[in-house]
Amino acid sequence: MLIARALLDELIAHAREEAPNECCGVLAVEPGPQPRAVRVHRAVNTAASPLRFEVDGRELLRAIDLIEQDRCELGAIYHSHTRTAPYPSQTDINFAANWPGVEWIIVGLAGGETAEVRSYLIDGGQVREVPIEGAAE
Ligand SMILES: [Zn+2]
Repeated sequence: MLIARALLDELIAHAREEAPNECCGVLAVEPGPQPRAVRVHRAVNTAASPLRFEVDGRELLRAIDLIEQDRCELGAIYHSHTRTAPYPSQTDINFAANWPGVEWIIVGLAGGETAEVRSYLIDGGQVREVPIEGAAE
């Protein structure tokens, strides 16, 4: 999907604020032939853990409501990996099975100063990386 630099920076800022725990949240997209991220909705990692994240189902539904009020769609679920590469864990793959077609964005902080943000589509247990492209502000 297209993500403006400012929104990517919001994801990275959220990841750094929560470190060493994982952060999580969702991204709203404007639907279309090339979906474009328009807003970051932070969520609370109720697991408060550096190794995994959990989202309260009601909080997730509230975020989706807000996204739909904006006439947008749930485009991605994001979280951070503070100790490992930004690649989906088996737990991620299992979680993503409930959200077909929603991109799975991981902010990797294990590299030190430079955060690495990657996006995947996870379908039937198969992980495929998809590009994150910069959008004009
Ligand atoms: Zn993960």
